[in-house]
Amino acid sequence: MVENEDKFVFPGDEVGMAEEWISGEGTYEDEGKIHAAHFGVVKYNEEDLEARVEAINSIVEVKEGDIVYGVVEARKNSMAVVSIDMVEGSSRGVKEDIEASIHISEVSDDYTEELEDEYLVGDIVRAKVVQAEPTIRLSTIGKQFGVVKGYCSQCRKDMKYKKNKLYCPRCDIYENRKISKAYGKIKLKRKNN
Ligand SMILES: [Zn+2]
Repeated sequence: MVENEDKFVFPGDEVGMAEEWISGEGTYEDEGKIHAAHFGVVKYNEEDLEARVEAINSIVEVKEGDIVYGVVEARKNSMAVVSIDMVEGSSRGVKEDIEASIHISEVSDDYTEELEDEYLVGDIVRAKVVQAEPTIRLSTIGKQFGVVKGYCSQCRKDMKYKKNKLYCPRCDIYENRKISKAYGKIKLKRKNN
């Protein structure tokens, strides 16, 4: 282990093997491997054999319990990375893109096997903040939460809610999502930058 050599990781990145390291703060263990639970820098403590991930940015504008809207920016193993655009019913502005993550276990009331069955990059989701610091974690468990606007994976057009799925009239295809009951009912102003 080289000192002072920071390794930046994304949520879901593998940071070590469970037989070598203890899963510390900011990490979780899955199938014998330790993964980063949020963005940050990996730190290995050789003394107590602990691997942890230190958060880089802590955001104060978003509070636990807030309902937020954001865009799915990436999917990484068992995490969806969401940039928060807006806090519902609040005048507190979100000045710049605030990144948050949704762990696969907090996507839906039902067991989620594959994240790609629930969220696609570009989808707009309504979610609840379940942890605000050191990094923001969101949950979309509950009927009110999930995708409020989804785009077709083929043509990128808005999709319509139909038969518990999203339907693209242009491509005549249905796609799965974790859909919010508020689908299509929310007008969200996107920032231009
Ligand atoms: Zn389409």
